[in-house]
Amino acid sequence: MKLLAVTDKVVEFIYSPSLVEKFSDVDLVLSCGDLPYYYLEYIISMLNVPLLYVHGNHDPPVEHSWSGLQSTGPSGGVNVHGRLVREKGLSVAGLEGSIRYKPQGCYQYTNLEMWSQVLRMSPALLFNRLITGRPLDILLAHSPPYGIHNGRDRTHVGFKSFLWLMRWFKPRYLLHGHRHVYNPLEITETQYEQTTVINVYPYKILEIDVESK
Ligand SMILES: [Zn+2]
Repeated sequence: MKLLAVTDKVVEFIYSPSLVEKFSDVDLVLSCGDLPYYYLEYIISMLNVPLLYVHGNHDPPVEHSWSGLQSTGPSGGVNVHGRLVREKGLSVAGLEGSIRYKPQGCYQYTNLEMWSQVLRMSPALLFNRLITGRPLDILLAHSPPYGIHNGRDRTHVGFKSFLWLMRWFKPRYLLHGHRHVYNPLEITETQYEQTTVINVYPYKILEIDVESK
């Protein structure tokens, strides 16, 4: 199965008819957040595939379109924050937002608040492993884990609870954004225990095998 993961930046050729020429064989789109909803809607309507997403810290609680419509997320997409969904044979769980760096602001969490999100989701992950006999396929996040692809500043430090989640639930992939990559030598793929952690900024194509069950 071929996945298109996007995050943080509108890529010109993706937001154009060339998208269909290049990515007509994509089966599923995943968004790690901080993207305009119209961009995500454009991608899935052109490719005619499902979208799973989480919000990033810069996503507005409500996006106003030029025609006056208001939306709280991309139309036609499934918000996977705090839950696990199965799509095309893959199990995908999501955790939105970044570390809290402002007292107010949507989609920001303290380490403690993220721990509570992770623990609240854990029974569903355990249950999934029991019934499928397989670990989680993808953890879709906006923020990186602590110590992996994260920054040292207050805004870009990752979550410690993600490390625990990877040790316990062994997702095959953790996909994240939030950290913009400008240096081609910067590491964007790291193996942590049994999980491949990927910073998808601004997009990545992933081939993933799906066991039919
Ligand atoms: Zn961000």
